[in-house]
Amino acid sequence: MRIDLHTHSNRSDGTDPVDVLIAHAAQAGLGVIALTDHDTADGWAEGRRAAEDARVGFVPGIEISCKLNGISVHLLGYLPDPSYPPLAEELRIVRDGRTDRIPSIVSRLNAVGVSLTVDEVLAQATGTPSVGRPHVADALVANGTVANRTEAFDRFLADGRPGHVSHYAIDPGRAIELVRAAGGVPVIAHPWGRSSYKVMTAETIGRMVEDHGLAGIEVDHQDHSPQSRTALRAIAQDLGIIYTGSSDHHGAGKIDHDLGVNSTEPEQFARLLEVATKNASAAPDAQVPEAYLP
Ligand code: AMP
Ligand code: FE
Ligand code: FE
Ligand code: ZN
Repeated sequence: MRIDLHTHSNRSDGTDPVDVLIAHAAQAGLGVIALTDHDTADGWAEGRRAAEDARVGFVPGIEISCKLNGISVHLLGYLPDPSYPPLAEELRIVRDGRTDRIPSIVSRLNAVGVSLTVDEVLAQATGTPSVGRPHVADALVANGTVANRTEAFDRFLADGRPGHVSHYAIDPGRAIELVRAAGGVPVIAHPWGRSSYKVMTAETIGRMVEDHGLAGIEVDHQDHSPQSRTALRAIAQDLGIIYTGSSDHHGAGKIDHDLGVNSTEPEQFARLLEVATKNASAAPDAQVPEAYLP
């Protein structure tokens, strides 16, 4: 059974509606899919309904925007209560910061001669509470400035390019604790991916486990080379934490991230569900969701 624990719908920066994402998961033969949109749980109810209809296992999750020493780090939270007030409040601040930065991204791009308006960006993000750089990219595709998201990031939006503006993000230690307090399971996404490799040393991962209760790390991810995967798996095994694998699928928004391209071993998934049960009982105030496992 293939288990894919990291995917995005158009409730954040994926391109597929939730029901289409689940249908694609069924077509791809996945046994379990986790929906982990950026900083929002908006798609969960629809995802669960579609997954029950398609008889695909469904794990509600969230990918939380964090920042350590100014470097972007992503935390996956599985099965937390998204309405647990301290977590809900932080996520709201992150989402507001995402939207608030759009005018400055647009004016920076205008300053380098790119034609773009805030409305063009927002038109690409209808129905999502979590606006991101990929929506800016989509607006640049729509108005003919670039051919696709990749070109938009390479020329304008990647870190260090003229249209890059960072947004408010949470300290990862605090985010790990918030996920646990909300009864969920915290797992660092792509620790040696694009930017986070600069700060996510083995020592830092160890401290997050010791000091904050980090439960696992994502190891099999397209941003990780074979050598990185081997090294990260060894780090997880040394620390006795869970290691996962996933596609980080974004629909048509990211090439080489097809559903199921990487997957999580069933034993690791079983451990994750055990930690979920343990963290939920340690957080009696949290209204944790249930995974659907047909
Ligand atoms: P944001 O959180 O709004 O700063 O945007 C970051 C998101 O942009 C990530 O979650 C990815 O989905 C996407 N992204 C980052 N780099 C690229 C890239 N080179 N090509 C396509 N999408 C990217
Ligand atoms: Fe994304
Ligand atoms: Fe990510
Ligand atoms: Zn992701």
